[in-house]
Amino acid sequence: MHGGQYQVAVTKQHHHSYSLTDSSEVDPDDEKADSPPPLTPLQKLTTDMCKDEKTIKDLIIGRRVGFYKVRGEIGCGTFSRVKLAFHALTKDKVALKVLDKTRLDSQAQRLLSKEISSMECLQHPNVVCLYEVMEKPSRLYLVLEYAGGGDLHNRLSTQGKLSENACKITFAQILSAIKYMHNINVIHRDLKAENVLFTSSGCIKVADFGFSTQVSNRNDALDTFCGSPPYAAPELFRDECYLGASVDVWAMGVLLFFMVTGTMPFRAETMGKLRRCVIECEYTLPPWVPGPCQRLIRGILKEAPADRYAVDQMLGCDWLLPVQFPWTLVPPEPASPLQGLLDSERRDLEEEVEEEVRGLLEELGFTAEHLQNNQTKNSRSPVTGVYRILLHRAQKKRGCDSPPVIRGMVRDPKREGLRAYKGLRHTSKLCVLS
Ligand code: ATP
Repeated sequence: MHGGQYQVAVTKQHHHSYSLTDSSEVDPDDEKADSPPPLTPLQKLTTDMCKDEKTIKDLIIGRRVGFYKVRGEIGCGTFSRVKLAFHALTKDKVALKVLDKTRLDSQAQRLLSKEISSMECLQHPNVVCLYEVMEKPSRLYLVLEYAGGGDLHNRLSTQGKLSENACKITFAQILSAIKYMHNINVIHRDLKAENVLFTSSGCIKVADFGFSTQVSNRNDALDTFCGSPPYAAPELFRDECYLGASVDVWAMGVLLFFMVTGTMPFRAETMGKLRRCVIECEYTLPPWVPGPCQRLIRGILKEAPADRYAVDQMLGCDWLLPVQFPWTLVPPEPASPLQGLLDSERRDLEEEVEEEVRGLLEELGFTAEHLQNNQTKNSRSPVTGVYRILLHRAQKKRGCDSPPVIRGMVRDPKREGLRAYKGLRHTSKLCVLS
C-alpha cells in the first residue's frame, strides 16, 4: 500500500477487520474531553469496520468487501462472478467482479493482470471504468462501473434487430471506444455482443478486457489466438500471427451485421464449417439493409486485413454522418483549428469537476493529507476507489456519459419482425481458433 499515513491494515485478531490510520487524526491530549468532534462518515465507517459486530460479521461472510456492501449476483463468466455492490460512503452502485485466485492457472493469472493493466490506462465514456482493485488471500475483486441496462446480445436475442437509428447510436459509441483504445495501443481481442453493455441511460460500455493486450507499436504482430469463433477474423483461423487492430475491426463488422439484421453473418453447425465460411468471407447481406450501411459492412468484412476499413474511415462513413457525438467522446484531430478552443474549454471543465470532487471528499472526511499520501492513480487504494467514483459521478452530471444523438430529420424505419438470432451466447477461448 502506498502512502504511509493513510493505510488499510488487516489486523491479526480479526482476519477481515480493518484499522485505518491517518496522521491528521486529532492528538488525544489536544481534544476537549467534554465535546469530542462528531465523527466524519469515513471515521464512522472505519471505526465500524474494526469495532461494530455486524459490520465485522458482514466482512467475514463476504457481505462487505473493503468499503463496499455486496448484494446479489448480476452475472458470471468463466473465472468470475459479478455482483452488485454499493460504496458504503458514496452509496453509488458498482459491479464487483470476484475472482477465485485458487482457480486461476498461470495463464489465467497472466490474462488477469493484463485485464487490470489495460483497464487502468483506459478512461473513456464508452469503456467500463475500473474504480478499484482489492486483493484478499484467496480472492481478487475488481470494482467496476455498473452498467445496469443489460448486454447487447441479450437485447438482440430477445427483441430482434435494432432500429436503424439505434444501430447508428450504438455502433458509433463502440467505434469511439475502439478508436480511443487503438490510439493508445490497447487491443480488445474479444469484441462481441455479450461484452457490449448498456447503462440505464442507454450509453454503451465496452466491457471484459480479459483478452486485451497493450502493444508497443500498432504494427506489432500478435500470435496468441483468442476470442469467440463467430467474431474471429479470417487470419485468426488461417495465419500464424495477426495485427490486433484489424482483428478488432473485423469483430466490429460482425457486431454491426448482427445489430442491423438480428442474425450473425457467419453461422455453421461445426467449427470446421464456420472456419471455412469465415476464411472465404462468405456472408449474405439482406437487400433491405440501407445502402450506406451495406457499404460500411462490406468495407469492414474484407478477407485481407490490409483491405479493411480503418477506424477513421468507419467514423467518416456516410451512414454515420447524422450521428452527433458529445464533444467529449471524439476530440478533434490535433490539426483542427477548434483544438485550442476545446482544450481551454476542457481544462476549465476538468478544473471545475476536480474542485467538486475535492469538496465531496472533504465532506466524507478525507483530508488533503489523505489525498496527498494516496496517489489517486493507484487502483489498490480505497481512496482511489472513492475518488474515481466521485469523479465519474461529477463527469456524468455534466453529460459526459450521454449517448450521441441523430441530427436532423432521420427516417426511423418500422421494425420488421425479422427472426431474432437465437444462437447461444458466444464463449471466448484461448487458442481454439487455429
Ligand atoms: P467471459 O467468460 O464471458 O469472458 P468474464 O469472466 O470475463 O466472462 P465478464 O464478461 O466480465 O466476465 O462478466 C460476466 C457477466 O457479468 C457479463 O456478461 C455481464 O452480464 C455481467 N457484468 C460484467 N461487468 C458488468 C458491469 N460493469 N456492469 C453490469 N454487469 C456486468
